Amino acid sequence: MLRERLRKIRERIKQACERAGRDEQSVTLIAVSKTFPMSSVLEAYQAGIRHFGENRVQELNEKSKSLPGVLNDGDIYWHMIGHAQRNKAKDIASNADMMHSLDSVRLASELNKRASGLREKIPCMIQVNVSGESSKFGLQPQEVDGFLEEIQNFEHIDAIGLMTLAAPAKNPEDIRPQFTLLRALRDELGGKYGSIKNLSMGMSGDFEVAIEEGATHVRVGSLLFGSRH
Ligand SMILES: *Cc1c(COP(=O)(O)O)cnc(C)c1O
Repeated sequence: MLRERLRKIRERIKQACERAGRDEQSVTLIAVSKTFPMSSVLEAYQAGIRHFGENRVQELNEKSKSLPGVLNDGDIYWHMIGHAQRNKAKDIASNADMMHSLDSVRLASELNKRASGLREKIPCMIQVNVSGESSKFGLQPQEVDGFLEEIQNFEHIDAIGLMTLAAPAKNPEDIRPQFTLLRALRDELGGKYGSIKNLSMGMSGDFEVAIEEGATHVRVGSLLFGSRH
């Protein structure tokens, strides 16, 4: 049952926070509902979830029509967590309460343009590739400073933190160095860009380690909704 799975996840979040000496309220649980039907989203909503993540713009559009985010006068938050082409910027500006996968100046520029007239700011996390895998989207750690410099003048983009998708590993401990690296980068850049405060990292298999390393947003899918086919 979803309610029971949610209870267990919240308990594990609480315990990870205790181990790290952190306040439980400093961690936002994002339920990654991608590929799951609206009925699953509603079940999670009824169980108390208010943050949902989608990795495809089309699915975000459809689901946010049924259950609008705060941007569109609803009471939930839709998080766009997947790579997006520039031609999807208008949909993201229209429907995403937060964008986690900002990874190019071109996309930032288009989002900035599309947000104009629709909303004040789009809260954005910058996606960083800390795994060293060439297949992953995201900026290289050493590119992020220059990137932030370049998007400083985009008045509708609010760069609020860093996001990463860790390389899968059998043992979550093996992933810890990637999370440590992202946190160190956040600390370093946070000194120069005051708005860089958040860390979107950790999924079903590694959210506890991510929390111990400072995650403010964990993105949990299969552990909550079941396996995706
Ligand atoms: C699918 C997805 C998740 C959730 O993955 P689970 O292993 O199912 O928890 C988190 N982040 C991103 C970017 C995803 O695409």
